[in-house]
Amino acid sequence: MHILIADDSVVDRALLKGLLTRAGHEVIVAENGLEAWSILQTENAPQLAILDWQMPGLDGLEVCRRLRQIEGRPYVFVVLLTSNDDRQQLLEGLRAGADDYMIKPADAALLRGRLEVAQRILALQSNLMAAHEKLRFRAEHDALTGLSSRAAVLEALEREINRARRGRTPLGVIIGDVDLFKRINDAHGHAAGDAALCEVARRLVANVRSYDTVGRLGGEEFLILLPGCEVSSLQAQAERLRKCICDAPFDLLGLQLPLTISLGGATLDPLGSESPSNLTARADAALYDAKHSGRNQVAVRI
Ligand code: GH3
Ligand code: MG
Ligand code: MG
Repeated sequence: MHILIADDSVVDRALLKGLLTRAGHEVIVAENGLEAWSILQTENAPQLAILDWQMPGLDGLEVCRRLRQIEGRPYVFVVLLTSNDDRQQLLEGLRAGADDYMIKPADAALLRGRLEVAQRILALQSNLMAAHEKLRFRAEHDALTGLSSRAAVLEALEREINRARRGRTPLGVIIGDVDLFKRINDAHGHAAGDAALCEVARRLVANVRSYDTVGRLGGEEFLILLPGCEVSSLQAQAERLRKCICDAPFDLLGLQLPLTISLGGATLDPLGSESPSNLTARADAALYDAKHSGRNQVAVRI
């Protein structure tokens, strides 16, 4: 384990360091609280900190309190070292966020036992974080295409609208809907339909800029966010997306099939107060125009 020892006493530091290194741990030492605090804020901070209570400047208790105030960082297991076993003081330490305490001088067997507890808790914590991360990824991505999920792309739309208003920059949105997609499913099966959706997603992503967002709204409908895109370039960008679908046939489970997409675009007036849903409703209305003009078309509502 990667362990931090913070103690202002040279003797105590050396003693603890010896014990821990012999037990196979990777040890980093700090001579005072401030040094400990700066080590704990680094990218690959130790997962376990053994902090002497009494240190000049910043004491162990204060380091512990500060540590517990930062959010979004991997958990650090804290063992406070104290030279007396006053109950009130021990309680104060636990309330400051310490996980455990030890009375000086550290007893080697007890220390080993406490490290085992720490390792167990840290393993639980890291499993929990991994599970949380997995759930977050699933919520933000569409399982079939890997694009931003409906929820994630609508959240991104809100963020982009706010950013466009702050910076008074344009924002373009496009809704694309694959034409007569039901026929693909009906004629070639659902698996071919799924493969088509993945290929549509791949082509759309390949034909936007890196800071644009492509999300799957649902079914065969996609929402594309184009920050900085003016009315004048929105039409051209939507045309490029239309072409990237119809220009080359799709290889679906060995069959070469042509597909087309209809696209509706709208731009946000950054000085106005239009809601996200109104903006997408305008793009949707434009999409409806494109469908009604014969599909494989682009329509824009300014
Ligand atoms: P239009 O040009 O008017 O959009 O016609 P369309 O056939 O594309 O539209 P419609 O809404 O009638 O059909 C959409 C089809 O998309 C129906 C549904 O079965 C299919 N679909 C939706 N989600 C999926 C999916 O995840 N996989 C597959 N294979 N098909 C899907
Ligand atoms: Mg469709
Ligand atoms: Mg549809």
